[in-house]
Amino acid sequence: MTDIYGLTLKKLADKLTELGEKPSRADIIFPAVYGELARSFDGLPLKQETLCTLAENFSFGGPECIEKLVSETADKYLFRLSDGNTIESVLMKHEFGYNVCVSTQVGCNMGCRFCASGRLKKVRDLTVSEMVGQLIHIRRDIGTRLGGISVMGIGEPLENLANVLDFIDIAQYPKGFDIGIKHITLSTCGLVPGIYKLADSSAPVNLAVSLHAPDDALRRTIMPSANKYALNDIIAAARYYSEKNNRRVTFEYVMLDGVNDSDECAARLAELISGLNCYVNIIRYNPTDGSPFSCSPHERIMSFYDILKKHGIGVTMRRELGASVNAACGQLRAASLGG
Ligand code: SF4
Repeated sequence: MTDIYGLTLKKLADKLTELGEKPSRADIIFPAVYGELARSFDGLPLKQETLCTLAENFSFGGPECIEKLVSETADKYLFRLSDGNTIESVLMKHEFGYNVCVSTQVGCNMGCRFCASGRLKKVRDLTVSEMVGQLIHIRRDIGTRLGGISVMGIGEPLENLANVLDFIDIAQYPKGFDIGIKHITLSTCGLVPGIYKLADSSAPVNLAVSLHAPDDALRRTIMPSANKYALNDIIAAARYYSEKNNRRVTFEYVMLDGVNDSDECAARLAELISGLNCYVNIIRYNPTDGSPFSCSPHERIMSFYDILKKHGIGVTMRRELGASVNAACGQLRAASLGG
């Protein structure tokens, strides 16, 4: 059996050809699976023989939702995969629509010290079906269309790029989720080769790079991946991405009290990224149990913000969504594992 949620339109057409069916049948199957969210092939306008072939060769996979936490601004879903591992997704309820934050790996090996997911080591990459299944379940649950996707749940998506690209391909299908490329954001902790690969791929999504420090020495103390990739190389890759795809890159910066939030840090950050088509997204830290960090005070955050502005850098501040439903990535899963 082939899991239908794991196939792009092109791959489904190829599989149908392999089964002796017309590849154009994919254009009937895809709208039913992703537009109408069909759970079987029953009722599709196809010959009985074809329906039997489909039923014999394709399954509807996707993860099983085992817990949901609801708040006014964000709902969190915990899913169990077929091998018993668990992952989570967050539905963010913005004024302008719904956005789903999807996970791309079981656990994460990047080890960012401020992140709950970093404490749960990577077990494996998610399959395309396991990523698509997160959207399918949430789309059914809310009964309305999704406005956007953030590929910034648990995991480093650039470590699982081939599957992530297929997932993005399926999410964009016009008669399905129909999520435009400009409404899909992928966040990386700065894996330089992956940024170049994504830049040269057919999916020029919005790129968000987690910087969190204006120099390598400080960055290494909070993000182990900084030992492998230097800031100058990350900035060069981000510049390439921006110029190749004519996109503004986002730099994520979480405010950690007394660690990376000084006026000097702000000035050095401005210098580091000056001249790039970018903006900085300042994130208030949402502390997790056992975290050695706390969020910078409001006045400190505002001072940091003002300095970036004075240097001509575009800045936004992320609204804290879903703090009451453990919305820092990895927290629900950590809680379910007793972490
Ligand atoms: S912040 Fe992202 S990359 Fe870093 S440990 Fe957490 S999930 Fe992994």
